[in-house]
Amino acid sequence: MDKAYVTNQAELEQHLTLTDEERAYFSSPGEGLLPLRISRYWLKIMGKDPRNPLRLQSVPRAGELDYTDEESEDPLGDRVHSPVEGLIHHYGDRALILITDRCAMYCRHCFRRHFTGRTSALGKGQIDRIIEYLREHGEIHELLISGGDGLMASYERLAYLFQGLNSLGRPLIKRIGTRLPVVDPKGTDRAKLDLLGEQKSLWMVLQVNHVSEMSPEFDRMAEAIRMRGIPLLNQAVLLRGVNDTVEAQRDLCYGLIERGIKPYYLFQGDLARGTSHFRVPLERALEIYGELSRSVSHLALPRFALDLPGGGGKVNLEESSFVKRDDRYYYFRNGRDEIGRYPRESE
Ligand code: SF4
Repeated sequence: MDKAYVTNQAELEQHLTLTDEERAYFSSPGEGLLPLRISRYWLKIMGKDPRNPLRLQSVPRAGELDYTDEESEDPLGDRVHSPVEGLIHHYGDRALILITDRCAMYCRHCFRRHFTGRTSALGKGQIDRIIEYLREHGEIHELLISGGDGLMASYERLAYLFQGLNSLGRPLIKRIGTRLPVVDPKGTDRAKLDLLGEQKSLWMVLQVNHVSEMSPEFDRMAEAIRMRGIPLLNQAVLLRGVNDTVEAQRDLCYGLIERGIKPYYLFQGDLARGTSHFRVPLERALEIYGELSRSVSHLALPRFALDLPGGGGKVNLEESSFVKRDDRYYYFRNGRDEIGRYPRESE
């Protein structure tokens, strides 16, 4: 058994008294649900309050069993944009490598839950095919290495991938997406960080959603990453009950900046099945962001974006991409000049 992590209800109940909402989740048949995995470190810093923002992100609730008509298994349309196993190519000059399905913690709001914690890590043969695709597609300049959690891939797999990328002989901007330094700072492998530090043009993208996730242990790990010359960015998700107030967002943005981490994106929740209890209605989300943008410096302000359902791509929620709204939907123009829509949900 992995002692640093809790992976079932019985272990969880040794730490917490479950609420009715949480217990109701565990008493369901549980077919095809996201696995449970929470570090003991995270349980320690979250305390015992059932409304704690860390708890809401990690302990499942009955809301995860409710599906709305607008939700889908694959809200970003990953499957239709995957020319090679493990590679998603949505935009001309950017691509995403899903190097592993593993995460240190399974976030209950995860939008890639059809993949996360269910399949496996990429093998060397699959990495070879990805490198071949990148060789044939010289227009790709920027790669996001994620999953799952990019840092949960083994040292050997990461080293093999970087070796392949470096063999392409062209500059590639690399971003590695990980939540491991946030949810289990001490479990973050220093040898992997050394390997990342040796790569050119590599950025690390964290996901911190609430200022209380940045403990002294986290601070030490963030410093260890920065000492290796790896710049840090943060992509947060707007989550109901977790960070859906201007104050929570302001504290998060300034908390990040004070630690040398640039707030990069704030995402509106994707329409992933079983996540409606986390989504903030877009109308309210725009109000929060509008007020935030008037109250923090430009350095501390992330961009606010949403992914259009079904593979429509990312749109920045600025006037230029907003087209119109009717009773049921907001309509946006994406970077390919196509119109996509996102539902107007109620509180
Ligand atoms: S770390 Fe990312 S991929 Fe993993 S469960 Fe959380 S949101 Fe999903």
